[in-house]
This record gives sequence, C-alpha cells and structure tokens, in this order.
Amino acid sequence: MHIRTPVSIALSCLALAWAASAPAGTVRPADPGEEEDLVPTGKGVGERAGPEHQRPPFAASTAARSRTNGIVYHGGPLMLGTTHIYYIWYGNWSGNSATTILADLANSYSGSPYFNINTTYYDASNTHVSNSVSYLGSTTDAYSQGKALSDSQIQGVVSSAISSGHLPKDSNAVYFVLTSADVNATSGFCTQYCGWHTHGTIGGADIKYSFVGNPDRCPAACSNGTPPPNGNVGADGMASIISHEFEEAVTDPDLNAWYDRRGEENADKCAWTWGSTYTTANGGTANMKLGTRDYLIQQNWIRATQGKCALHL
Ligand SMILES: [Zn+2]
Repeated sequence: MHIRTPVSIALSCLALAWAASAPAGTVRPADPGEEEDLVPTGKGVGERAGPEHQRPPFAASTAARSRTNGIVYHGGPLMLGTTHIYYIWYGNWSGNSATTILADLANSYSGSPYFNINTTYYDASNTHVSNSVSYLGSTTDAYSQGKALSDSQIQGVVSSAISSGHLPKDSNAVYFVLTSADVNATSGFCTQYCGWHTHGTIGGADIKYSFVGNPDRCPAACSNGTPPPNGNVGADGMASIISHEFEEAVTDPDLNAWYDRRGEENADKCAWTWGSTYTTANGGTANMKLGTRDYLIQQNWIRATQGKCALHL
C-alpha cells in the first residue's frame, strides 16, 4: 500500500500498488495502457519495483475508478476456504496497545460485511473466496535482523519464525511482519509504501507474507490522518494497511490472479478512501465496527458489473 502523499498522488498509488504486488527482485511487466494513466509524472514504471503501499490522494483514486471499471483475472490461484493469519511482532512492542487492537482486528474479519467483498473474486474453477478467516496466533522477534530491514531480511524473519517452530508452516495463511516504530524497511517504507505483500518458497511451501510498518514512524505518510478510534495512531493506521494487504493476498496471493491493467490489485483501487465515517465516543474517526472495536479501514473493490469501492457487501 502506497503512502498517502498529496503531491504526485497517482504516482504514489501506483508505486505502492506495485510494491505490494511485486516480490523482491521481480517487476511486473509494463502495461501498455499505463503510461497514459501515470501522466503527468510518467515515472510509475520505475517505481513498480518497490514493495507496496502508501496512501494516495483521493483525487488519484477517483481518477483510477473512472478509468477502470473492473479488475481482471489472470489465471493464478486464490486463497480459498478458511484463510489464516499469523502475526510476527518484530522489534519492541512492549506496552503498546497495538498487540491487542490488531489481534482483535484479525479475530473479527471472518463473516464480516467488510471481508464479504472478497467473495466476489473466484478462481479458474469458479470457486469463490470464502468469508471465513481464522487468526491462528503470533510470535515475537526482537530485532534478529536489526533495525533496517531489506526485503530479503523480511522474508528471513518469516522463514525463521517457521523454521524455529514458533509458527506452523501454512500455505493457506498470510504471515504479517509488523515492525515497531524504530524499525525501517529500506526498500521504501514511509517514502514509497506503508506495507506490501508477496510470496516466497519457504521450507518447500508457497508462503504468503506481508510487511506492515508502524505509521508512528511517519504519520504524515502512513497514518490515517484523523483522530484514532482506538487511541493509537500507529495501530489504527496499521489496521487499514493490514486489511489492505490481507484482501490483496487472498485475491492475488502469487501476484498472478486479480489485478487491473494498471497492475492495481483490489485494495489498491480504493486505497485511502473511507466512505462514510462517524465519530466515536472518544472523538476518533471510524467507518466500521468489527467485533467490539471501531476502526477506520479503507474501502475495497467489489468485482461487480461496474465495479466500485465500498465498505461492505
Ligand atoms: Zn496494495
């Protein structure tokens, strides 16, 4: 997910989208229609190599919607049946309410009107994504790779968590590497993206994983920019970024399933758009309740006749 930079919105969106989609070292082939969409900067291609997202300006999102009414299936697998989530708390999260807020989030996707949007996506056998998600646990990693992580080191964090037995090896899961605010991801966290997802072969299995940094490190780029409904700017921002990466991982786990002609996956098409919001009792801004908590989570793309961004289906 790209950063929410007001200037060069279109560029940011694409850069983030690509980053999220692009595995380290792999760049998606340029799309013939893309330069037109990237105008006026024209730099989108070079930026695609990075990991994924940050928040694009609303104007950019609107432009994307008006030009692409849909999203295209490219033949690859989806994550089907009950999908699983694991968290790896990297760095120092002691005393941070994020560990509770975001565990509650992961426990609340299943059966929600929000996650139901993803059931509009299907594979070559016409099997649709299920609105069924299980959060199966977490582990911690106290800076095993230091405080400046390369993309390969982030995969290493996931690999270590599995090989050490702290987390099971599960190819129908998304492993989230959640870094504390003192940790950077050197391929562009805070400058090009706020998070990304990809996959890799770990222990002989196709493992899907995602990096999501703490927006406390760069609130102007990666927080939601409004009062946090759970009183934690970083965690409330991560709730939206995690949701973004998760729904993309489910519908495009190997980066060869659902995305549009600009290379944008479902959540990319609606990044940093919120739909209708309300004010919570503590003065926060939210747009949905999942479980017992209010969150401000970006809209997602409904794959329908015209296609649209929405908060629920
Ligand atoms: Zn994305």
